Amino acid sequence: MTKSEKLFERAVKRIPGGVNSPVRAYGSIGEAPRFIDRADGCYIYDVDGNRYIDYIDSWGPMILGHNFPAIRESVLKACENGLSFGCATEIEVEMAEFICERIPHVDMIRMVNSGTEAVMSAIRVARGFTGKNKIIKFAGCYHGHSDAMLVSAGSGVMTSGVPDSAGVPKGCTEDTMLAVYNDIGSVKALFEQADGQVAAVIVEAVGANMGVVPPCEGFLEGLRALCDQYHALLIFDEVITGFRLAFGGAAQYFGVTPDLVTYGKIIGAGMPVGAYGGRRDVMELVSPAGKVYQAGTLSGNPVAMAAGLTQLKYLYDHQEIYKELEAKGQMLYGGMEKIAREKGLKVQMNHISSLGSLFFTGQPVVDYVSAKTSDTKAFAEYFKKMLKMGIHMAPSQFEAMFLSAAHTDEIIMETLDAVKLVL
Ligand SMILES: *Cc1c(COP(=O)(O)O)cnc(C)c1O
Repeated sequence: MTKSEKLFERAVKRIPGGVNSPVRAYGSIGEAPRFIDRADGCYIYDVDGNRYIDYIDSWGPMILGHNFPAIRESVLKACENGLSFGCATEIEVEMAEFICERIPHVDMIRMVNSGTEAVMSAIRVARGFTGKNKIIKFAGCYHGHSDAMLVSAGSGVMTSGVPDSAGVPKGCTEDTMLAVYNDIGSVKALFEQADGQVAAVIVEAVGANMGVVPPCEGFLEGLRALCDQYHALLIFDEVITGFRLAFGGAAQYFGVTPDLVTYGKIIGAGMPVGAYGGRRDVMELVSPAGKVYQAGTLSGNPVAMAAGLTQLKYLYDHQEIYKELEAKGQMLYGGMEKIAREKGLKVQMNHISSLGSLFFTGQPVVDYVSAKTSDTKAFAEYFKKMLKMGIHMAPSQFEAMFLSAAHTDEIIMETLDAVKLVL
């Protein structure tokens, strides 16, 4: 038995499913998850001493690679002053100013502790601002685990979402309307049915939680136009794409301006941070400035802010990273696509910038229904063999691969060699 297997045996006795977040359990893979000891640059090491090239990158935060020296040092330095005060600090002001002065559609911002909280709060303020209740979300888009957002399954448009999870009362999701990603007609139909009651449309500007599904031409622009027409707010959930596709996230990348935006992952550099921000007239409604309540004992935590701000400053000062990530994405994902094509495999390689997913289906993947046509057993085989070759990827067909600045061309070539053998 490996150390990972022994740890998993202990874990399942005391932690539901053995993990503190479901995807970590390797559920669709059928073996014990690797327990991680440490990570550095593009490498991650498990407790059995195996080294892997890591394409999970903590699901995105590690865009500069693991254990980035400047971030580690900023955390150690912040720790010397105490871990938390529950009071206002200078670094929170610096963080807010740094973002608002550099991202044109963010006039004001509020820090929270996770992406889930960021989305939950953005939706509350959108409802408070518009005085309406309905929210349009897309099948296959993940926005954290708050009750109203736990609606995604189902194959088509639904005017009243069915909860995906036990323990979510129907009442919590009856105002969540479900549209089809990349299908602007489905959104228009919901707006018409909703009779002026839509507070907001929330979307992952690049779908990255049904595997990677980029928006088709005109989709985001279409959402902007419909929101304007029906006086609803457009919320980009940039928990993955923020500071990743560009410093200004998907909004900058595609040139479409949301009213509100949510951040997570990269913004905390590995510490638990989320944030929501946007138009001043909307954000001024958040308490104590306004009447939409939202709070957090540990929000804006000084150690977390130190890590996040150091990463954001580094990214802003080194924006060549974004060009490099584009090139690396082209090299890795383009390379994978070429290998699959040469072998005549029925797969789809969806990718954009540093994000990519290899879908085991013959059908183009443009939304949740087409993503679901993938052969998850074939994916599991591929995953296990890649892991044996020393490549650590998300243990699910419906997650992205994350490239970081620490993945060199040599590392990518090594990965492609493994792909060639495994496929
Ligand atoms: C990860 C994620 C969330 C949830 O963030 P947590 O920090 O896990 O709560 C929300 N939206 C998107 C798009 C995500 O990828």
